[in-house]
Amino acid sequence: MNVSIKNLVKCYGEVRALNDLSLEIADGELFFLLGPSGCGKSTLLRCIGGFEKPTSGQILFDGKDVSALPPSDRNTAMVFQGYALWPHMTVEENVAFGLEMRKIPKEERDRRVMAALKGVQIETLGKRKPNELSGGQQQRVALARTLVVEPGCLLLDEPLANLDAKLRRDMRQEIRSLCKDNGLTGIYVTHDRQEALSMADRIAVLKDGVIQQIGSPQELYRHPVSAFIASFIGETNFVKGTVRGETDGMTQIETADGMLMAAQTGQTTGANVLISIRPEALGYAKGDEMNQLAGRITKSDYMGEIADHWAKTASGAELGFFELNPQRDLPEGTAVKLTVKPEDVVIVRED
Ligand code: ADP
Repeated sequence: MNVSIKNLVKCYGEVRALNDLSLEIADGELFFLLGPSGCGKSTLLRCIGGFEKPTSGQILFDGKDVSALPPSDRNTAMVFQGYALWPHMTVEENVAFGLEMRKIPKEERDRRVMAALKGVQIETLGKRKPNELSGGQQQRVALARTLVVEPGCLLLDEPLANLDAKLRRDMRQEIRSLCKDNGLTGIYVTHDRQEALSMADRIAVLKDGVIQQIGSPQELYRHPVSAFIASFIGETNFVKGTVRGETDGMTQIETADGMLMAAQTGQTTGANVLISIRPEALGYAKGDEMNQLAGRITKSDYMGEIADHWAKTASGAELGFFELNPQRDLPEGTAVKLTVKPEDVVIVRED
């Protein structure tokens, strides 16, 4: 099922939670809505599910306008944060509930419930009550309950929020596989960037009810259009500079700590620009590579497999960088020469 959102506006009194938002989600796509708290993610998901009525705009499923339809007529299923399982019903009864509501005959109901339980690997737990299950197992019941009604689109509102860190990580690929194996379109709300980066086909980052950027995880992480996206989707260093021209398909940018070449063109000579450099893109210079930045260590956090270092440049800029498999201590004041590849020098819009 493909989902089309056209010029959606949702106001709560004075608050414009969604501000003229348009979006196309392809059939079978796992699409993420990511953004800080209050940016409008849940409002958008609830509008798609029919739990919230848009102030204006349209929602289309496979080209058909569903804006006026109640949730039960939308062929969507929602997985909520708090599972919302019935405590007095067994796992099987919880999963069968949606089918009973739809008046599916018992034989077919039993077959589909078993298939759904198998799909999330809890077929042996059918007779238990929710309070006899772990958090992860309850999550699986919640998923089985939505899959069993065979929706065209699965709506997931922070479904892993209540789980511990390890289970969260384990469940990421399981949910992705469930969507892919069942050919489901999935729309997934989270404020957890790693969840989005590791699971999504595409991500829309929202702020103040407006989409700031849409792209694949790699596009958003490697080519953020703005300072907001760059810092929301990962850690980064910002450096200011002035464009001095183009050579060999690269832009020359003068900074307070020397010239940097960026593998991005089309900038206006003389323009002041903001550059984003990720901490893992900075490494020690071995010789006379281009794009060198010299500084002195101000702080180091050793964490075994990785160390987080900070170095202050001559101009006073503080640069954070990661060192994988660190071999030695870097005491405060140690002089370091760092380098960054032109493709990792990313010009972003200032917010
Ligand atoms: P998110 O899911 O990104 O945290 P929400 O969609 O829940 O954001 O909220 C977007 C904005 O709309 C926020 O400013 C929030 O306070 C407001 N809002 C959400 N639901 C309601 C409501 N039922 N009544 C009034 N304001 C609301």
